[in-house]
Amino acid sequence: MLVIATGNMGKLKEFRRILPSFSFTTMKEAGFSGDIEENGKTFEENALIKARAVCAATGKAAIADDSGLTVDALGGAPGIYSARYAGEGASDRDLYQKLLREMESVPEGERTAAFVSVIAYVTPEGEEKTFRGECSGVIAHAPHGENGFGYDPVFFVPEIGKTFGEMDAEEKNAISHRGRALALFKAYMERK
Ligand code: IMP
Repeated sequence: MLVIATGNMGKLKEFRRILPSFSFTTMKEAGFSGDIEENGKTFEENALIKARAVCAATGKAAIADDSGLTVDALGGAPGIYSARYAGEGASDRDLYQKLLREMESVPEGERTAAFVSVIAYVTPEGEEKTFRGECSGVIAHAPHGENGFGYDPVFFVPEIGKTFGEMDAEEKNAISHRGRALALFKAYMERK
């Protein structure tokens, strides 16, 4: 049994779909309702902060995902601040609309970006591991598709010819940052 250190429903759905053979419980179900301050400077630090906090509070092994979108034309922003890019309490739509505004004057060919996901695994015995997955793409000029969550409608993957928002779960998880990071985690757990 693993506790997933997230309250993000989009991430939770993907975890369960990508790793159907793992038994997950949410941190809420495990009795954790506290706020975790993500004050790290990297995806790795923030993923570890979340997994450690939930492992310490529940006494069970925990995994956390810290993820975000790094946009080259914006010097890597929003990066680790992806969830907070449009301020507290902003909707997914607010987030990608803000990104589209920031990218308004950026020409085709300079709109490259990558999604990053770092999965941290922390156990009560003191084991700590991180796994990083990335997916390259470009920022579209307008939203397309309504699947997924967060910035999915504006993240276009040229090889597939679709945004994440236009892909079904299977298609996205096969190439996504989170799909790749969780595949590394799964391989590690199978070697143990
Ligand atoms: P955090 O990991 O909780 O700090 O939040 C990461 C944020 O990055 C999410 O709230 C989303 O806005 C964005 N994000 C991460 N992964 C994805 C994804 O797969 N699709 C769309 N947006 C994502």
